[in-house]
Amino acid sequence: MPTPIKKVLISDTLSPAAIAIFRERGIQADLRPELGKDKEALAAAIGEYDGLAVRSTTRVTAALLEKAGRLAVPGARIGDVLADLAQERAGPRLPVPPEIRLEVDIAAGERIDSGVLRRIADPVPVSCPHCGGVLSEVRGSKPLRFRCQVGHAYTAEAAAKAQEGAVDEAMRVALRIVGERAELVARMAADARANGRGAVAEMYEARAAEYRDYADTLRRAVLGAVAPFGGDGEPEA
Ligand SMILES: [Zn+2]
Repeated sequence: MPTPIKKVLISDTLSPAAIAIFRERGIQADLRPELGKDKEALAAAIGEYDGLAVRSTTRVTAALLEKAGRLAVPGARIGDVLADLAQERAGPRLPVPPEIRLEVDIAAGERIDSGVLRRIADPVPVSCPHCGGVLSEVRGSKPLRFRCQVGHAYTAEAAAKAQEGAVDEAMRVALRIVGERAELVARMAADARANGRGAVAEMYEARAAEYRDYADTLRRAVLGAVAPFGGDGEPEA
């Protein structure tokens, strides 16, 4: 959320209507058009303002912005600021950190082996949602990130999302199998009953009831009554 603007410096002549707009919104607007032509005086004054309103006299430069700790760059002047910055001489080339170099190599399709991966990450007992390989947690990464040995990369959030689909699918398969099992055992119970094997029929009936309970639990889970992970589900933030 942007910080609220409380105090604006107007360094060019601006119509009283524009100034009134600031004041109507409870913003202190200081009209000081003499500063628009005086680079030094403007630089000295800018530090205490949250906003700078200009038309064409004031030149907003990168040097001026360095003095303006609280200022957001006015949209119309961003072009000037970028032009100033682009004309500055670039500093010495910085060495590329090895972990960035490695990330680039992986992104370019380089196959990494477990030795290389171990330098940047620790294996965790979680499978890669894409290929099923072992995932490794990248050390010190924010947000939490994982890589598999092939090079698939996941943030924790993306991996959790991908897993969610697999959990849903597995639960649907389990529901179908348990439902069919309840059906089969119920038929076996009916058959035993029809053939006068009461004790066997009872045993199958009890088992069929058990499977129907399992199926109900799974059905509720599949329908979202139970969160796919975290057990009883986390409250929404
Ligand atoms: Zn993978």
